[in-house]
Order: sequence, then structure tokens, then C-alpha cells
Amino acid sequence: MKNESILVVGGAGYIGSHMVKDLLDAGHDVITLDDLSTGHRDLLPGGTFVEGDLGDKEILNRLFSSHNISAVMHFAAFSIVGESVENPLKYYRNNLAATTALLSAMIQHRVKRFIFSSTAAVYGEPMEIPITENHPCNPTNPYGATKIAVERMLYDCDSSYGFKYISLRYFNASGADESGTIGERHTQETHLIPLVLKVATGERENISILGTDYPTPDGTCIRDYIHVSDLTQAHLLALKSLLSGGESAVYNLGNNHGYSVREVVELAKKVTGKNIPVLEADRRPGDPAKLIASSEKIKTSLGWKPKYENLETIIETAWVWHQKEAANSNMS
Ligand code: UDP
Repeated sequence: MKNESILVVGGAGYIGSHMVKDLLDAGHDVITLDDLSTGHRDLLPGGTFVEGDLGDKEILNRLFSSHNISAVMHFAAFSIVGESVENPLKYYRNNLAATTALLSAMIQHRVKRFIFSSTAAVYGEPMEIPITENHPCNPTNPYGATKIAVERMLYDCDSSYGFKYISLRYFNASGADESGTIGERHTQETHLIPLVLKVATGERENISILGTDYPTPDGTCIRDYIHVSDLTQAHLLALKSLLSGGESAVYNLGNNHGYSVREVVELAKKVTGKNIPVLEADRRPGDPAKLIASSEKIKTSLGWKPKYENLETIIETAWVWHQKEAANSNMS
């Protein structure tokens, strides 16, 4: 009998690469499937790598036939809210249709444990803060709509095939592994913290605040930032639960604390000691004003304990990584 492996789909991306590292560190055998459309081969910390699309039936059949896969973790989604508003079908094709192919292959090969990267964007404009998992789901953008559609599909697969899943609704993933060896790298960067830190390294001239007329104390959007390694630790707990026969579940992952865009910029100035010029710009379509998580459910059910609750520490870990990336790009 071959060793049991965990299949990480999208393991060469930002969160996926941190997951692969933590799975390997925890002693698991890991196979990564990634088409490198947004991931980076050099960010993959180890394990077996297969280059390919998660919707490719032949590759999926080969993978599930030739390995003893005990669970699948799925990070291979497009995740840019603005892009999803401009090009929704790109999102439905990859995030929904390709995920359907992956789930079909899993059912066919009797692999029935799945951990899904979902998002706070499933909730839409919140009716109450903090947001619990019972809050109604009315996404304000196609990205969130594709994620809630997959969650519904997972629920139906559990009812019909006894498929067990844990869906983790991330708030704003940020920071980098403490080792400084991996971190956030997007060819097309749209996220606030990396953009702000690229101003601090001198790679960009300024940061645009996208909307200053939101109904928040300083007029800018409020988000709940969570360290990427706290996310991956939650996945390890979810995996342990499913591997020991646990039931399907949906959990929020955030820090129960909101920071406005202006507050993030101020903290980044403090951490980096650099001037970070700001421009005030229009709102970005699809952005809710305020998202703050309640993560009580996963703390109570799985014993999740975040290590990095303080945004300043989260930004410090990201800063170590971004300085290194900037130095590398100056040398090449
Ligand atoms: N944001 C901003 N300027 C930027 C990028 C983002 O003001 O250049 C704001 C964005 O409107 C949102 C917050 O920063 O309110 C976090 O955005 P990000 O793209 O990092 O994550 P999202 O909340 O969209 O998942």
C-alpha cells in the first residue's frame, strides 16, 4: 500500500505554498497540482509537483489512480474582486466549472475528504458585525458568488455521496511565513498590504485609497486581516478532523478586529519607517464597507488559536518577505 498523500490544488500560490510547507513540516506526503497561471514554481517548498489544470480530467484520473490520496485541499481559485466584476465568466469557468471536474474525479475515485478555501465575500454587505457563519450569504460580486456556489455543491455532495468537507471562509489573508522563505507574490498585485509595502521598498510611488466616502469612521473600508500561517494551522485542524471521521462544516477565519485602509497605511509606515504617499481614488466596484469575522465557531469546535492577532506583527512578517523580494528583483 502506498503512503497516504494530501493533494494540494493550487499549492504554488500564496496561501497554497504556505500550506504545503506546513503539511510537510507536520510530516504529510504532499502532491501539488498547479497550472502556474498565478502561482510560482520557486515558491513551492517541496513534495511532488504536477503542472496542470484542476479541470483536466485526464490529469485528475492519473493523479487519483496512481496515488493513495486521503484528502484534497483546494486553493486554485481566481480571487480578485474587481476582475470578477469585469470578467465574471472567467471566474465561473475556473472557480466553479473546474472545481466541479475536481469533485467529480474525487467521487469517481472514492476520495471523500475535501478542504475548501472559501471567503468572507460570500456574505456581501453585512447586516451585523461581527459576521458569524449564520449570517445570510448575498455576495456583492461574482468572486463571492462562485465560492458560495461551490459551498452549495459541497453540501449536496455530502447529502448524496457521503462526501465530507470543511469550508473555510477567509477574511483578509496577509503576512508571510516566519522563515522568510515564502510570502505573497502576485504578478498582478491588487491587495492592500503588498501594495503598501511595495511603496515602502520603492517599487511603487504611492498607494491609492480606493474610496474615502464609505460609512466608516475615516471613510475608508474596514477589513479583518488574518496571518497566512494562522490560516494554514486552521487547515491542519480541519484535516485532522476529517481524517478522524469528523462531519462537514463551515468556519470563518478572521481575527475579530477591523482595520481601515488608512490605519493599515499608518501601521505600515510605523513598521517600515518609510514614507508612504497616499492618493485618494474612487471606490472599487464590489467592495463592501466593513467585514469583520467572528471566528468563535472554529475556536470552540476545532480548538483553533491564532498566533498573530496583532496587525503590526502580521505586517512585520510581510515586510521581511517584501524586502527580500525587492532585493532579488534588483539583482535580476
Ligand atoms: N484597497 C485600497 N487600495 C488598493 C488596494 C486595496 O484602498 O490599492 C482597499 C480595498 O478597497 C479594500 C481593502 O483595501 O477595502 C482590502 O483590499 P484587498 O484587495 O487587499 O482585499 P479584499 O478585501 O478585496 O479581499
